[in-house]
Amino acid sequence: MASLSLEGIQKVYSNGFQAVKDFNLEIADKEFIIFVGPSGCGKSTTLRMIAGLEDISGGTLKIDGKVMNNVEPKDRDIAMVFQNYALYPHMTVYDNMAFGLKLRKVPKDEIDKKVREAARILDLEKLLDRKPKALSGGQRQRVAMGRAIVRKPKVFLMDEPLSNLDAKLRVQMRIEIAKLHENLGATIIYVTHDQTEAMTLGTRIVVMKDGVVQQVDTPQNLYTKP
Ligand code: ADP
Ligand code: ADP
Repeated sequence: MASLSLEGIQKVYSNGFQAVKDFNLEIADKEFIIFVGPSGCGKSTTLRMIAGLEDISGGTLKIDGKVMNNVEPKDRDIAMVFQNYALYPHMTVYDNMAFGLKLRKVPKDEIDKKVREAARILDLEKLLDRKPKALSGGQRQRVAMGRAIVRKPKVFLMDEPLSNLDAKLRVQMRIEIAKLHENLGATIIYVTHDQTEAMTLGTRIVVMKDGVVQQVDTPQNLYTKP
């Protein structure tokens, strides 16, 4: 279960620049929300505030009705996947996926079960002993997702997760992500520039411009109405 409520969310960076102005959105449990909009309109900043990686300058963020503004990232039950993977280069695939669980002092046998389960879902079982440099781009991206899903987060934030992949892999991974949404039962917020991804994955699309929400609608209404 995870509904999110963003009430008048704002971000003013320390140089005085206001990247997000009065962002309002109610997100229901298990929605797949897509953020679109021109580069620099505040999509990443909004995701990072939800994850707790960036302070919220104004407004209220609630998850399941609870105010989260000042809750530590590790206590938010949120996982985030970035465009540039951010894997630990000196660790194996297994250790990369286990890292967040070790940090949270999950027992070793439980970690092992969760990592192997994630590896099965993401088809990484044969690659667990490899280091990131010995993986393809698509495999690295799957490890990054594996690292997020082992925790079974209630909220899953993805910032252009497929933009570094070639066209064929993007299609494959898009199908994987749709399955992941079903299997995990997580609420997802997903930033993309790709209209096909937005249309096939999203339950609703949020169009941003210059730090404000311009439009919120279903893919059908947004892309098929004149
Ligand atoms: P602080 O300035 O207190 O360290 P900020 O969040 O404002 O915190 O900045 C974090 C870093 O991002 C700083 O090093 C800042 O120089 C840099 N930065 C400044 N402007 C931009 C920008 N437009 N896009 C990305 N990073 C920026
Ligand atoms: P998007 O994800 O939509 O491309 P961002 O959220 O990354 O946009 O950035 C929104 C705006 O905030 C941009 O104008 C960017 O330059 C600015 N920005 C991002 N990070 C910082 C920072 N640390 N300090 C100052 N300005 C920033």
